[in-house]
Amino acid sequence: MNANASVAGELGIYSCPVCKLLLRQKEGVLRCPTCSQAYPISQGVPDFILEELSQSKDPVLRRMRAIDRMARIYETRLWYPVVLNIYGGFHSPSLAQLVTTVSQKVQSTKGRVLDIACGPGTFGRRIASPSKEVFGIDISSGMLRQGAAYTAKEGIPNVHFARARVEAIPFEDGFFDAALCCGSLHLFADTVIALREIARVMKPEAILSVFTFTAGRGGILKFRHVREWSLKNHGLHVFGLSEMEQYLSASGFKDFQPEVSGSTLTFSARKRSVDGLTHG
Ligand SMILES: [Zn+2]
Repeated sequence: MNANASVAGELGIYSCPVCKLLLRQKEGVLRCPTCSQAYPISQGVPDFILEELSQSKDPVLRRMRAIDRMARIYETRLWYPVVLNIYGGFHSPSLAQLVTTVSQKVQSTKGRVLDIACGPGTFGRRIASPSKEVFGIDISSGMLRQGAAYTAKEGIPNVHFARARVEAIPFEDGFFDAALCCGSLHLFADTVIALREIARVMKPEAILSVFTFTAGRGGILKFRHVREWSLKNHGLHVFGLSEMEQYLSASGFKDFQPEVSGSTLTFSARKRSVDGLTHG
């Protein structure tokens, strides 16, 4: 099976990350009919990030080359369990447990699921089913290539990858029936800007399922100076529960349902029906 063929057939669903209009595919690029911007397609994966991230002011974005190289070990015991134990504490859930927790929240969803900062599709690949079509976005081309290789090898047909930033998601308003954001919300430069853009592409009442970190009882994140150091040096935000609830409310979400284990936080929230962003 040609993995790229199924992806290419779906390219008509992407929108311009700037003006949000549907893109047209022509001669190996996606082009916006309004702003004339062209987005290249590399090995079946459209690339919506035209700037050079290594020059970014954001410390997370500057580390992109290292993140690209990490793609091969990301799902092995060399990475995920180590990070979970160090940051979240020894009582942190395993990757398999996290996948179960996150997928339970979107279990009844049918339709399109957005996987934000999907890495190699770690969660999205395991959630995709005949009734759930998963669209992963990430800023690391190394991670996306690894994800495409995994899905081809595992024979999962309904997972698609694109290189894009959470601040400029290349889909129309209300496109998704659910969204996942696993292991990355704490890395976004501005949490509310990221959440508002996520809410924009979700349908009213659609569910958002997140795994991130909180200042819990386990791991190094229970120490205030570690949290301050992580934010200053690595751009890692460690959320308080009431803080997260405020961010969600300010971004158009409701029904915050948190679960804390060690210092890992999983939660769900729903997009509000009537988009009244909180005033004042
Ligand atoms: Zn445009």
